[in-house]
Amino acid sequence: MVAEVIYGKQLAENLREEMKQEITTLHEKGVHPKLVVVIIGEDPASKSYVKGKQRASEKVGMDSDLIELPEDTSEQDLLDLISRLNQDDTVHGILVQLPVPDHISDQKIIEAIDPSKDVDGFHPENVGRMLTGQDTFFPCTPYGIMVMLERAAIDVEGKHAVIVGRSNLVGKPVGQLLLNKNATVTHCHSRTKDLKSHTKQADILIVAAGRPGLVTGEHVKEGAVVIDVGVNRVDGKLTGDVDFESAQEVASHITPVPKGVGPMTITMLLHNTIKAAKRIHRV
Ligand code: NAD
Repeated sequence: MVAEVIYGKQLAENLREEMKQEITTLHEKGVHPKLVVVIIGEDPASKSYVKGKQRASEKVGMDSDLIELPEDTSEQDLLDLISRLNQDDTVHGILVQLPVPDHISDQKIIEAIDPSKDVDGFHPENVGRMLTGQDTFFPCTPYGIMVMLERAAIDVEGKHAVIVGRSNLVGKPVGQLLLNKNATVTHCHSRTKDLKSHTKQADILIVAAGRPGLVTGEHVKEGAVVIDVGVNRVDGKLTGDVDFESAQEVASHITPVPKGVGPMTITMLLHNTIKAAKRIHRV
């Protein structure tokens, strides 16, 4: 078997085209969805992520602001800025690029964002809503994975989903979203013994560990769906956590890196911002 490749990039482009049209319709109703991205410091990877987010929002016709703050910005100044953005009626989505410098508590920042503008879906109120199966802003990467599975017509109900990784950003929320859709979910992590014995049982295997080549064809059950979330730079090249060639021989579907999950993350951020604007303006 050679797996079908699921290209998030193509799907993301299609979804963004739909969003462009939706934003035009919203403009006609006087609603101008706006995303504000805040970045603190000079980390090159973070800078490139936020530029990508801003470019993508502009491309779909969304208003966007990038606020770049120096590394030594105090926690209080950042909290004051968030409070102003919370009160600004023209702003619908607020995203503070993580990680923030060590002298700032990321949890305090996450909790300061108005949950109705928390387009990253990290505020405990929104996490709680997700946990209890309510509609809310879902974290963008996990949400993007769910949309990829849905659009590839992969039914998750009753399937055994094994997730390698348990971060608050990816592993835990993707497990929760799969559980909400009636999958049977197993989480593996750095302390898991005999990883292969777990991954081999997966109908749907999601790998989000940040360890290049952690999962190979030997870890994959015949006919499984493999979603590679990992983004690693090895010898200057982007690579996932899955050895694509060997896994492709065994899986039924597989996502590549790049052009896989990555482009879906920003797309879901745009989706969440449009959703926030629609909710705030009740349209
Ligand atoms: P993280 O470092 O916060 O978490 C990694 C998780 O993997 C941890 O729960 C850890 O227990 C587990 N892990 C590490 N080594 C392991 C091993 N040998 N066996 C089993 N489990 C192991 O990382 P994260 O923020 O969850 O991100 C994971 C990967 O996904 C990274 O490569 C990151 O760059 C990537 N990522 C991609 C996107 C995207 O848009 N494509 C978005 C977010 C993160």
